[in-house]
Amino acid sequence: MRLLFISTLFLISCNTNKIVPENSLQKPKNIILLIGDGMGLAQITAGLYSNNNFLNIERFQIIGLHKNYSFDNLVTDSAAGATAFSCGVKTYNGAIGVDSDTISLKTILEEASEQGLKTGLVASSSITHATPASFAAHNKSRSNYEEISIDMVDSGTDIMIGGGKNYFNKRTIDNRDLYAELKSSGYTISDYSIQDFQNVDFNNIGDKFVYLTADGEPTSFDKGRKYLVPASERAIEFLNTKSKGKGFFMMIEGSQIDWAGHDNDFEFMISEMKEFDQVVKVALDYAEKDGNTLVIMTADHETGGLSINTGSELDSLVAKFTTTSHTAVMIPVFAYGPGAESFSGIYENTAIYSKMRKALRLDIEKN
Ligand code: MG
Ligand code: ZN
Repeated sequence: MRLLFISTLFLISCNTNKIVPENSLQKPKNIILLIGDGMGLAQITAGLYSNNNFLNIERFQIIGLHKNYSFDNLVTDSAAGATAFSCGVKTYNGAIGVDSDTISLKTILEEASEQGLKTGLVASSSITHATPASFAAHNKSRSNYEEISIDMVDSGTDIMIGGGKNYFNKRTIDNRDLYAELKSSGYTISDYSIQDFQNVDFNNIGDKFVYLTADGEPTSFDKGRKYLVPASERAIEFLNTKSKGKGFFMMIEGSQIDWAGHDNDFEFMISEMKEFDQVVKVALDYAEKDGNTLVIMTADHETGGLSINTGSELDSLVAKFTTTSHTAVMIPVFAYGPGAESFSGIYENTAIYSKMRKALRLDIEKN
């Protein structure tokens, strides 16, 4: 009886594995990875009910869950969380694109770039902040912003949008003007004005673009930061134009859902969540039209231990935070487009790296 049970289990698990062998899945040309920092299921649910019971997130076809603990802590931080996605390893909290021995690892963005894909990073934090940094920089500590900005410049990422201009041109560790270095290495630079950026004709400029949106950390959406949605739309357009059909990899982060969680500020969280859903709309609208784009949306971890409690109604939620830190609950993963099927199920956060890599065939096209 017990043997029968075990062999049935074995059959079931074999079957599950055989339904979607990842290398036989359709290959997308482009990947857009959307990260809502600190966005757990309660944040999504609260955003949904606070938005007339609809979010664009509902348009995703495939849903999975990831286990987000880091190398040294069941509760991850954003650096280890993003490095799991970008490099496929569990590392210690605070690590940017390095393993648990502080050895640099090639990120999926760097690998995609080597294979001829265009690359992009867009965030509503500074561009040197843990999440975007983990895709293009390598540092033993997330707080070494000025060292990280050197890596960001060296990475050659084709389009970068986020705050943190001071880490580039008002430096304390050296006298370099990275802003000028970006210009001299062929970047077109737009700063402080989304209008500026929206009016650029991408056919008339070079292949690299930087838009530094603030001296330090950009403000919150409800206090006037409005660039994330239009900048995401334009960045996709930029990469679409410049890649000339050869494909692109980009990561867009709704950075401040996490900050609202740390602040236990529900209204702040909802406004960041609704804005991020408009980024989802932009990405899915593009993917629907394009047909060759895999869109993945997830978070690194949940922040605030949010719950939606009894007494709640659709338009008035009774929500409570239980901590000002991150939590260890599993995080949903949503996928749309060619290759999306491999994102169903429950897996480690590091599997998101290998699934994206397999989708782009980076695992076999590597020499
Ligand atoms: Mg972040
Ligand atoms: Zn956080």
